[in-house]
Amino acid sequence: MEELSIDDLKVKRGEKAFGFVPVEGTDLKLPVALAKGAKDGPRVLISAGVHSAEHVGVAGLLRFARALDPAELSGELVMILLMNPSGFAHRTLSMVYEDGKNLNRVFPGNPGGTTADKIAATVVGKFFGTAERYVDLHSGDAHESLVPMVFSVGEAKPEVVAEAERMAKAANVRYLVRSGVATGGAYNHAGSMGIPSILIERGEKGMWSESEADLCVNDVKNVLRTLGLLEGRLEGRVFVPDRLARTAYVPAPVSGHWHPTRTAGNSFKKGETIGVIRDCFGNDLAAPTFEFDGVILYQVESLTVIEGENLIAYGGEPMTI
Ligand SMILES: [Zn+2]
Repeated sequence: MEELSIDDLKVKRGEKAFGFVPVEGTDLKLPVALAKGAKDGPRVLISAGVHSAEHVGVAGLLRFARALDPAELSGELVMILLMNPSGFAHRTLSMVYEDGKNLNRVFPGNPGGTTADKIAATVVGKFFGTAERYVDLHSGDAHESLVPMVFSVGEAKPEVVAEAERMAKAANVRYLVRSGVATGGAYNHAGSMGIPSILIERGEKGMWSESEADLCVNDVKNVLRTLGLLEGRLEGRVFVPDRLARTAYVPAPVSGHWHPTRTAGNSFKKGETIGVIRDCFGNDLAAPTFEFDGVILYQVESLTVIEGENLIAYGGEPMTI
């Protein structure tokens, strides 16, 4: 194909363009960048701002797209610069402003649903259909501490799982987690469609910095080097991620005031206390404990904790006695 297009946005060989793609059935428009390389290669989809308060990915992807020279590219890049634009504009943390939904829990979406469902349906219909690889950029939300890490799809064809893990190994992070689900998350759903997909987490607490955005850009470039879209060796590597043998996600058993004992990146032993949830008078309500030795990947660190939400994600080797 001599032309790359999404709706009315088009580029020819060696070109780059920025523009909007409408979300079907809403007034929302997704800011998108397209680039078609001087040489042929795979079509890679990259997205940021699925969670709109996860700003390192949003800042990093825009920086990468602005600086990109299509003359140096072999293949095609489709970049959704901000998938939840109304959440970003209204600073409703990462929830979609119109319906309060978590966009990364509704894939593949529903064109007859509420706004988040329609965004997901548009992304699946207009972007996933032709993508050959997918990289989704996240961070710790405003209430989350997080250690940089990468997820790769796990519930997909073996060759898709293997290729996703090859891509994930290019991220300059310490930990790699193979996902155990095929629905809900954008990258999980893409994996179930046969697209090797990864999710890179970098940054925390809804904040961002120039240096973190640069590290994000470097991760994107290293994945594209691995896929052959950019030339050269991988750069700026401090870590090659290790795949964690086991992960645990703990829902908050009750709402209240949250007092964690540690922060993301800290290690712990089986049986130690994750933290204490107290009521509004300071009385202890719950004190969940770790089920195996490991390291904290991300956790809630706002004083508010909400029953049923994911309190913490941790990983490690199963403890053997
Ligand atoms: Zn996220």
